[in-house]
Formats: sequence, structure tokens, C-alpha cells
Amino acid sequence: MTTGPRRIALSVDDQTRQPLKPRTLAAQALGAGDPTTKGLVPPIHMTTTYLRDADNGYSAGYVYGRTDNVSVQQAEAVIAALEQAEEAMMFASGMAAATAVFMALDKPTHIIASRVMYWGFRLWLEDISRFGHSITFVETSDLDAVRDAVRPGETGLFWIETPSNPLWTITDIAAISEIAHGAGALLCVDSTVSTPVLTRPIIHGADIVVHSATKYLNGHSDVVAGALAVARASDFWIRIRKVRTQIGASLGPFDAWLLLRGMRTLELRVREQCRTAASLAGRLSDHPALTCVLYPGLKTHPGHDVAMRQMDGGFGGMLSIRMKGGKAAAIAAAARVALWKRATSFGGVESLIEHRASIEGEGTPCPDDLLRLSAGLEDPDDLFFDLIRALGGR
Ligand SMILES: *Cc1c(COP(=O)(O)O)cnc(C)c1O
Repeated sequence: MTTGPRRIALSVDDQTRQPLKPRTLAAQALGAGDPTTKGLVPPIHMTTTYLRDADNGYSAGYVYGRTDNVSVQQAEAVIAALEQAEEAMMFASGMAAATAVFMALDKPTHIIASRVMYWGFRLWLEDISRFGHSITFVETSDLDAVRDAVRPGETGLFWIETPSNPLWTITDIAAISEIAHGAGALLCVDSTVSTPVLTRPIIHGADIVVHSATKYLNGHSDVVAGALAVARASDFWIRIRKVRTQIGASLGPFDAWLLLRGMRTLELRVREQCRTAASLAGRLSDHPALTCVLYPGLKTHPGHDVAMRQMDGGFGGMLSIRMKGGKAAAIAAAARVALWKRATSFGGVESLIEHRASIEGEGTPCPDDLLRLSAGLEDPDDLFFDLIRALGGR
């Protein structure tokens, strides 16, 4: 069964034969349109089934919606181009994308994962033994700790998140890829926070890139989606595709279409969100109500040097602040904002503030005096003064 046309309509400048920049590819959705009407914007392919030919074949290559959908493939092609991946696969959520990787493991495997990472997925990984696998959580910014955690012949998968939720710890992708490949293991990088605008993990040696497309890729807080992008479409990749079809973790066409639209402005949004986050981090760093500001763009951040190497042109739109007054002060400050929205998730046009420990619950490595901030696209001064009022002024 074919998975449809992967042909990328738009990839090189016809005059210079130079590869086009990611921003250009995304802005024009790789040239996707409506070939029937010559509509500039592609239609949403809502069909769940496709007509079989009289000779019993499927000449167009499409059979059934759970496996084949043009709108989904168009979003996949853009993500593959942005990540410089051989292929990408969309999923119904970031969690569906991440778990599909583990479902595709064909033998009991030892996994090494970042200690600090997206809490929902860490919870799922903590129970991975029910699938016959074992896991070691380590501080992946500490390369010696990672080397010590390797079990020769058993370790088959490394899972890192950088910058990692919600402390924005930086893991050196190239260094981990050397350790992983030296052990004969695969490296998966959850790059949701960095986005392909700032980091393309495959260039640094990652085998699979993971995204919650719910966040920056879509960018408008109106789609739940996930994506994987792969350096080489190996047998393992084919098994992941089979998992997606069999468990039905596919993305719906309307969501894929919204995502395709959202990604047209990805680069502009992320660059602006980086600028705003960096400006807030700098302006808040000596605030008397705070014990620290966590942002990889600050020279004081322990991962700053690695971030300089592997993040291109910005340090992300996410930062966290820790309140001198502890948990109660953090919750009270979040209660006083007017412009910032108290909500979980991130990466949308509206700035969000969250008392992170409250949602992560018992056993979280997240300090309870921490507020997580997602910089949106509002005016940075408006955001700053709203925060300053909430923190209790000066
Ligand atoms: C949100 C998130 C996920 C989970 O994605 P969903 O789309 O919510 O399923 C995974 N990783 C990171 C880093 C996230 O922020």
C-alpha cells in the first residue's frame, strides 16, 4: 500500500538552483494548492475512503483515511523540510507520536531518558516496564552521568528533551548522539520547545525528532497534534508507521490543514517570541521578588554555552521564574495578572502563565515556587508591566 505522493513541489530556487530557506518553504506550504481550481490555498481533504478501480486496483494510491490523507501528508512534507528529515509522520497528539516510538520497539529495551522533561510523558515512561522495557532517568546535561547509565547490549534508545520543561535545562544533542550511537542505540529528541526554527536535531546527530505540534508548530492554541521526523526512513520507521495505522493514532484532516496554515508563520512567530522571552528574562533577572529567572539565553544559565552552539538565533519563547515567597507567593502572583492567561500548554500567540507544580502533582521535580511563562505575540512592554504589577512592583 502506498502512502501517497511525497513529492515536494517547492524545494529549490528555479533560477539559482539553491535550496530554498525553511521560512520560504513553510510560508508557501511547499507550494501546496488546489490543482483543480488553481486555488492558492489547498483544500481540506475530508474523505475517509477512496474509490477502487474497475480492475480492482487503487491507481491513485489512496485506500482508507486512517492511513492515507493528502492534508496530513502536506503537513508532514512541511515538517520534514523544516527538520531536514527524510520523512515526517503526523499523529493525533504529541503523546501519540512519542508513545508510538516505544510501541515500535520489537524487543525488551533499556531506555535512557532526561530526568526533567514534559511531565505527562515522564509519567508514561515511569511505567514502561509494563511493556517489558526498563528505563533510567538521568540528568542528560551531565554527560558522565549519561555514560554511566549505559548498559552495553541492552540500552537501545535515548530520549532527551532540550530545552526541557520547565527548567529549560539544555542537553548537548551532538554529545549524546555520540554516546547513543557508540552504544548502538537510537537517539530521539523532543524538540517541541526549540522548534526547527532554532534547532534541527538531525543535523546534530538525532535519529528521530519529536514534536508536540500543539505548541509552536501550530502556534494558535487550537489544534492538538504531534509529529515525528526521521533522519533515515529505516525499518524501525516503517514499524512506527504500522503502529500509527494499527492503533489509529492518525491526525484528522481539518487539524492537519489548520497546522499547515499555522506553520506558514512559524519562523516569524518563534523569532518574535524569542525576542520577547529574552527581553523579559533580562528585565526580570534582578527583580526583588524572585530568587532566579530560568532562561537559556541568560549567561548565568548552566546550559548557556551549549545552547549558543545548538540553538540558532534565539533561545526559545519559554522561561520560568522562581518566587522568593515560595508556593503561596507564586500562586498569588499568577492570580494577579490581567494580560497573561493562567493556562497550561504553550507556544501560542497569547502569553500564558502557569504554576507548574500544581499541574504536575506529587513527585514532580518542578520546584513549587516556580511559574512557567510562555511568551506570546503581545507587545513586550505590555507583558512586562503586567508581570511587574503581579509580582508586587518595586
Ligand atoms: C505538550 C508536550 C508534549 C505532549 O504533547 P500533546 O500534543 O499535548 O500530546 C510532549 N512533549 C513536550 C515537550 C510538550 O510540551
